[in-house]
Amino acid sequence: MVFSRSSIKNKLLFFSSLATLVPSLGLGLLLFWQYKVIIEDNVTHQLRTLSDDASRELDYWFKKQSDNLRVLATSQAVVEGLAPPAGASPDPQAPRALPHYLRLVEEKLEPLLELTVLDASGRQVASSAESATGYVLPDPWPPTASDDSAILVPPRWDAARQGVVFSLGVPVLSLDDKVLGTLVAVVSLDALQSRLNYVAGNSPGDIVLVDLSGRPLLDTQQRLAQLSPLDGAVLRRLRERPDEPSVFAGHSQVRVLGMAKRSGVLPVLVVAERERAEIYRAWREVRDLFLGLLAGLTLLVGLAGWRMGRSIVVPLNGLAAAADRVAEGKLSVRLPIASNDEIGHLTRVFNQMTDNLRHSQEAVEAANVALQKKNELLETLSVTDGLTGLYNRKKLDEILEHQFANYRRHQRPFAILMLDIDHFKRLNDNYGHQAGDQVLKRVAAALSGSVRSVDYAARYGGEEFVLVLPETSLATARQMAERICQEVQAELIPYAGQSLKVTLSIGVAGVRVDDARADAVISRADQMLYAAKHAGRNRVHCTA
Ligand code: GH3
Ligand code: MG
Ligand code: MG
Repeated sequence: MVFSRSSIKNKLLFFSSLATLVPSLGLGLLLFWQYKVIIEDNVTHQLRTLSDDASRELDYWFKKQSDNLRVLATSQAVVEGLAPPAGASPDPQAPRALPHYLRLVEEKLEPLLELTVLDASGRQVASSAESATGYVLPDPWPPTASDDSAILVPPRWDAARQGVVFSLGVPVLSLDDKVLGTLVAVVSLDALQSRLNYVAGNSPGDIVLVDLSGRPLLDTQQRLAQLSPLDGAVLRRLRERPDEPSVFAGHSQVRVLGMAKRSGVLPVLVVAERERAEIYRAWREVRDLFLGLLAGLTLLVGLAGWRMGRSIVVPLNGLAAAADRVAEGKLSVRLPIASNDEIGHLTRVFNQMTDNLRHSQEAVEAANVALQKKNELLETLSVTDGLTGLYNRKKLDEILEHQFANYRRHQRPFAILMLDIDHFKRLNDNYGHQAGDQVLKRVAAALSGSVRSVDYAARYGGEEFVLVLPETSLATARQMAERICQEVQAELIPYAGQSLKVTLSIGVAGVRVDDARADAVISRADQMLYAAKHAGRNRVHCTA
């Protein structure tokens, strides 16, 4: 029998794989989702701290530069350079003294690249540089003499200095708070680099300062030359949602998770960012390891399920095939018991069942043989004479009918010998009935031994016998009768220590064309027997 593909083995395989995959995958997904949320929270927190610290550092650094400049604006050299004290004799060195002073200061204060003094009308009075940057002062400038006004030219790329700079101007006041002019400094933003690097410290994040058009100004990774400006939409998003993390294509065109903070002192954004691939690298490694383990586990469980299925299905298939053979009647089947489990028990019971069936079948077959033998015996008895073992009268009638029909159909002739023991009554009387029986048996045996295998010998009744000789002419039948007559006459029959002798009278007749029935032949043979008796017995009489 062929089983469908959805056999027990496949079902077990499917179930074991499902039982491994569903909980593992479900639990794994949940854990990984949580792990991802935790990573994102951590990184967001890191970036927020980084942008806050960097922004605070920037503000502090800027304030320091601004304070330095304001102190410088109050210096005697600057004030007197703009307004020589009244009554003082004009110093012939005065026009060269202020630029010299400005150069000295500029060289001492590292972030300062240029110091320029303008008078109240905005004209350049002195500068530390050979050719100073030109400035147009706002009007009114300053708005009030006593406030903390400052001019700020936003950070920009200075090609000549190969660096990012911004300009800061503060008013120069006299002792009575009159505006004498303006002290303008070109400040290098590069000086901020080391401070921001310190802030970034060991943090995996990167700090990038960008101007309000998205151009990078400073980068803690010092890759400024390779960085490109931020996309307009990204910049807008960062400015609109400060302190909120978002994913975007960063300056190096790789996707980053970052957030921005607007500086309070400079028109710049402090962007703290971290490469996205790097953030999730560990997560991805653990995920890949998990998926690999899961695949291995599924394979292992699948293999175990397959083996388990096989251990059930193979013996079951064996049982099914054996049951098919039993159904076909082959009871010799016997299965090996491979295990001690339920299948083993089933196999044992199956073997027992087939054993029982086999024994029952053998018993039925033996009973059948016995019955057949009995039937054969009954069949023999029903056609046999009990004393002599020759055919009885009933069977003789059948034989005769058959021979007669054969003669009619195929013109196959037959002859009949009717035999009678002479003076049998006398023998009975003289020697007893048992002696008579003994004689009957011996004569019957003699008749059986004298005929051919195709002939029939029957006891007609009492001490009379009939021989039916198929395919036999009258002459041959007569010869045979003569022979039998002589043989019986010559035979000595032992009985109770004596030897008995008997003779036979025999009437012979053959079938004739005008015979209407088989009885006609019997009747003629009987007449011939009667004639033989009358003629003196121990002889043969045959029809003409
Ligand atoms: P015949 O020569 O004219 O034939 O004389 P017979 O005495 O042989 O013939 P009859 O018909 O007068 O006698 C036959 C006897 O056979 C009578 C009967 O008791 C005996 N007989 C018939 N059947 C049996 C049998 O089965 N056993 C024995 N022992 N005797 C039998
Ligand atoms: Mg008789
Ligand atoms: Mg007789």
